[in-house]
Amino acid sequence: MTAAQESELLAQVPDLLFIGGDWVDSTSGRAIEVHDPSTGLVIKTIADASVADGARAVDAAVAAQDGWASTAPRVRGEILRGAFDLLQKRADEFAMLMTLEMGKPLAEARGEVAYGGEFLRWFSEEAVRIGGHYGVNPEGTGRMIVTHLPVGPSFLITPWNFPLAMATRKIAPAIAAGCTAIVKPAELTPLTTLYFAKLLEESGLPKGVLNVVTTSTSGEVSAPIIADPRLRKLSFTGSTPVGVRLLKQAADNVLRTSMELGGNAPFLVFEDADLEKAVDGAMLAKFRNVGQACTAANRFIVHESIAEDFAARVTARVTQFTIGRGTEEGVGIGPLINEDAVSKADTLVRDAVARGARVLTGGSAVEGIGTFYEPTVITEVQAGSDILREEIFGPVLSIVTFTDEADAVAKANDTEYGLVSYVFTRDLARGQRLVESLQTGMMGLNVGVVSNAAAPFGGVKQSGLGREGGAEGIGEYLETKYVLTPDPFV
Ligand code: NAD
Repeated sequence: MTAAQESELLAQVPDLLFIGGDWVDSTSGRAIEVHDPSTGLVIKTIADASVADGARAVDAAVAAQDGWASTAPRVRGEILRGAFDLLQKRADEFAMLMTLEMGKPLAEARGEVAYGGEFLRWFSEEAVRIGGHYGVNPEGTGRMIVTHLPVGPSFLITPWNFPLAMATRKIAPAIAAGCTAIVKPAELTPLTTLYFAKLLEESGLPKGVLNVVTTSTSGEVSAPIIADPRLRKLSFTGSTPVGVRLLKQAADNVLRTSMELGGNAPFLVFEDADLEKAVDGAMLAKFRNVGQACTAANRFIVHESIAEDFAARVTARVTQFTIGRGTEEGVGIGPLINEDAVSKADTLVRDAVARGARVLTGGSAVEGIGTFYEPTVITEVQAGSDILREEIFGPVLSIVTFTDEADAVAKANDTEYGLVSYVFTRDLARGQRLVESLQTGMMGLNVGVVSNAAAPFGGVKQSGLGREGGAEGIGEYLETKYVLTPDPFV
């Protein structure tokens, strides 16, 4: 895409709030400047919602709720399927938009369009499979009916790292289930959600079913929405500290909640692993999205007998990466989202090195324009290093060793997080043992990426509550209703 085409694309993205089916200006008098992290330049200025705008969005979602809940599931599904089809036609535009506002390499942005789109297709199919059951009660005196109804107006808060997929993973099941929604995208990457709302509008989504509020004052605007007694559900993806705060707010209103929070994924390589496959998996699990994924492998826990070989092999691959603006073909490492992210990765590496780790490649921020950090491998990371406890969220591969399976499991579970784990072994029985002993909601057994719209994504411990995707995903937006009727024969 040329610079002129980039500007043309950005001009098509709405710069207003989407409330009740209308594109409206905010009442705050402020604006949000969206930056390209690879240049630092402002690429678009959009509306910055006020508390009053948030309240308007709730009004719109509440007004549309009954009509949407009584819309035939097939119709709801067809709208999602139409959106899926339209997204395929606009795949290049959405990919470019994400690369511009978030920085990820274009090839990865295309991958996210494919992944994010699958939630539309999957939930278009799930919309017509919302089941229930009917049966005789044990006493034989009545008939028990169990049905599933939409939870009601839902508030969806998304992060910046997967601007499309994190939105579709919430919006699609909400729409499929018959819930209306207010979406609040991250202020760093709001453009993809705005453009996606426009796509849903074109796909025939009725007014008010989806509302978008973009704001730079997330806490201030969100708190009254969460406290509104008409709201029934909060679904959040983001960091654990913010998730904890929102759970406390949601408790006051006894909201249904889904929380997709932070991770600290262990990546275990056993002595019997196919080492080349483990290296392939490591590259994906670590460097996808420039390391800015909740599922990113954060701690490589490698058997002591192969750690040196593994480290040498990953280092050989890492040194081949091209760093640059994500819009350029062949770039594998784009910028991090902002200066804070660069300084966090750098601080973690410096702490590890000060405690005895060795840098095999990288280890510094890239000087010049944009917020780039070198793809890095560090080894001999010592217990107690911050990098083993905190989410790196950057392109830093950090290696520790283990002696036996019990040691590997103890090290892997030594974290308050529990989103995903990766295991490379050729021993089937060991793989099966680890399915049960690793405290994570998901596991990649000899693979480096697990995400799939058809699978239940989510974590245990402080990585969250609930699941997105799969058969479970729509259940997060459904309430169970039980009805008893008398025995019709007496
Ligand atoms: P963040 O918690 O800073 O922000 C997430 C969202 O919450 C943004 O939209 C932000 O504007 C909003 N927010 C922040 N403070 C708020 C408040 N007080 N009230 C209401 N909303 C508020 O996280 P981030 O930096 O955008 O994303 C990175 C984090 O997200 C990482 O921890 C990552 O692991 C996690 N994440 C988790 C998953 C998952 O599925 N488990 C997926 C992607 C990202």
